[in-house]
Amino acid sequence: MTLLFLAAVVLLGLGAWLYVRSGQQRRAAGLPAGEIIYVDAGDWRRADRPLFSDRYQLTGKPDYLIDQGREIIPVEVKSARLGQNQPYDSHKLQLAAYCLLIEESEGVRPAYGVIKYADAAIRLPYTAALRAELLHTLDLMRRDLAARHVSRSHDDPARCRHCGYAHACGEQ
Ligand code: SF4
Repeated sequence: MTLLFLAAVVLLGLGAWLYVRSGQQRRAAGLPAGEIIYVDAGDWRRADRPLFSDRYQLTGKPDYLIDQGREIIPVEVKSARLGQNQPYDSHKLQLAAYCLLIEESEGVRPAYGVIKYADAAIRLPYTAALRAELLHTLDLMRRDLAARHVSRSHDDPARCRHCGYAHACGEQ
């Protein structure tokens, strides 16, 4: 089960799970909003290996890391434009997972992470509420992975038509 969970986190990712399971790919107001910042990518270095947390049985690799001396800041790069929107909850939780992995591996909790969209960079505070929401979501993922059957959580044929997992889904 542990291996299965790790594989699911690595291969599917939080974003995909949220899309399939709960429809939280929408942009919602429950998590920190984040603020637009100017970024100098010259300080960024590519993460050379996946981060791993034994305690949370979680692994993942941020696109970039920023070494700020006292703390390491994760950067997740998205090819999409943000426009006038807020980041998706799934993007926030993915970044929160990297913050948690850095907290576990470095022993210092990052104050924030960065989501870099095509047209803007968002500084997202790694708050206690965001951390708690991440842990809750991971619990739900584990529950679903242990279940023999997980029912569809929506009644939206359009979502199924455009779903990348439809070929393996018996729920459409
Ligand atoms: S095909 Fe529809 S029910 Fe199945 S995973 Fe995709 S969105 Fe969910």
